[in-house]
Amino acid sequence: MKKAAIVFILVVFGISTLMAQKPGVKVHYRVSFDSASKNKMHVIMMMDNVKPGTITCKMPEWMPGYYQIMHYANAVSDFQIKDANNTTIAYTNTIKNAWTFTNKSSKKIIISYSVKATKKFVANSYVDTSRAYIIPCATFLYLDNQLEIAPTVQIDKPSAWSSIATGLTLLSATTHTYKASSYDILFDSPILIGNLEALPSFYIGGIQHRFIGYGLGTFNKEKFIQDLSKVVKAGIDIIGDIPYTDYTFIGIGPGRGGIEHLNNTTVSFDGKGLETEAGLNKTMSFLAHEFFHNYNVKRIRPYELGPFNYDAGSKTNLLWVSEGLSVYYEYLMVKRAGIMSEKALLQSFDNNITAFENGPGKYHQSLTQSSYFTWQDGPFGTAGPDKNKSISYYDKGPIVGLLLDFAIRHNTNNQKGLDDVMRLVYQEYYQTKKRGFTDAEFQMACEQIAGTSLNEVFEYVYTAKPLDYAKFLGYGGLSLTVSEDKKYRLQPLAAKDSLQSVIYDSWLH
Ligand SMILES: [Zn+2]
Repeated sequence: MKKAAIVFILVVFGISTLMAQKPGVKVHYRVSFDSASKNKMHVIMMMDNVKPGTITCKMPEWMPGYYQIMHYANAVSDFQIKDANNTTIAYTNTIKNAWTFTNKSSKKIIISYSVKATKKFVANSYVDTSRAYIIPCATFLYLDNQLEIAPTVQIDKPSAWSSIATGLTLLSATTHTYKASSYDILFDSPILIGNLEALPSFYIGGIQHRFIGYGLGTFNKEKFIQDLSKVVKAGIDIIGDIPYTDYTFIGIGPGRGGIEHLNNTTVSFDGKGLETEAGLNKTMSFLAHEFFHNYNVKRIRPYELGPFNYDAGSKTNLLWVSEGLSVYYEYLMVKRAGIMSEKALLQSFDNNITAFENGPGKYHQSLTQSSYFTWQDGPFGTAGPDKNKSISYYDKGPIVGLLLDFAIRHNTNNQKGLDDVMRLVYQEYYQTKKRGFTDAEFQMACEQIAGTSLNEVFEYVYTAKPLDYAKFLGYGGLSLTVSEDKKYRLQPLAAKDSLQSVIYDSWLH
């Protein structure tokens, strides 16, 4: 009962703040780069139709897709608030990511600040004289409790820079102004500005797919786009629906990592290594992973991942589905695209099994725990206070995905598989119920497709119980061996029965 009372007070407080500024506060941002040589950008936030009262503006503490508290507000400086008469308004900033002030009577409020952007990482903004990579969560303040406002963003593009890449909707090409239908959309739409190179578009189902980037490097771009289009098609074929009106891969230059969004992904990319088989497989798997996320996590999503808690983070047990199964599908997409060989596909799983089985955390942490505790353990489960007791859902996730797929195929005479589960949750939760699914609902969806209980496999999700590889891999005609130096290796069984052969062959294609 105590809990309910607290929730009630918060709701009432939220509504009163909300009502205070409604209806019709308009927010427009202007971003400029006069201090780019000092790795700074300048932001002006103009609010119109503001009502008198106490106002709090906040900067998110993290960005969806990168499940770590980033303290983006630490990069903010030169903070100023002015009213319509250009009079400075005093503010408090006792909570690092929140600025609170009182508006006496001005309908217009102008907040200006600088953002230092020095880290070349996909979840951090970066600015220098060659380009700007803007992470909206790390750049744009929002009015507390008013994430439904539809903001506009104007980019003062330096004339030396040729173009802007973003998933935001263009309002004016002459003033470089964009709009977002809500803050969730703004925060989901990074912006890259500089001398960017656009590779030839490819179309699937009449929908345009683009690859635009900074410092793309030298490689066979025609072949790259051909390969990428096959990989994207393999991903679309799993779900059978294209939910966006266009899709853009945004290459931000050399580095590591990628982050998924509804109609784009930002990826660290420099075109290196594509000429070797291993390098091509690695790059295509990486791009497949980020692309498949447009379904798995942006639309097929855990219940907790929306609406987001931009202050405290949105914790969920289900990153093993969102991330782990996206790893599972990145391999299958590149194999089904005809790029990855059967041998390389099995080796991809070998790497995950070897990493997982040789880590001490396997006895201590379940997949659900590694999902929930990633905020303290780090994205790969190694940086936390007790690193020997954590695992990575990037390793165990695809392994359990494989066991789950084989269990479903075995129980249905190969009439159904994990692809059917992904289609079912897409249709039932994204398209019909328009919400995320719970832990129990995901298991139920798997069991509905399998037509039987899958408790035995889900024990590998909820507990640290050792995996029965022989049984579940055997369903698909595979066996696992381990060498003296503890390297694990998947191999097709020499003698498969007819169901094992059918499952193995259809799994590969
Ligand atoms: Zn991912």
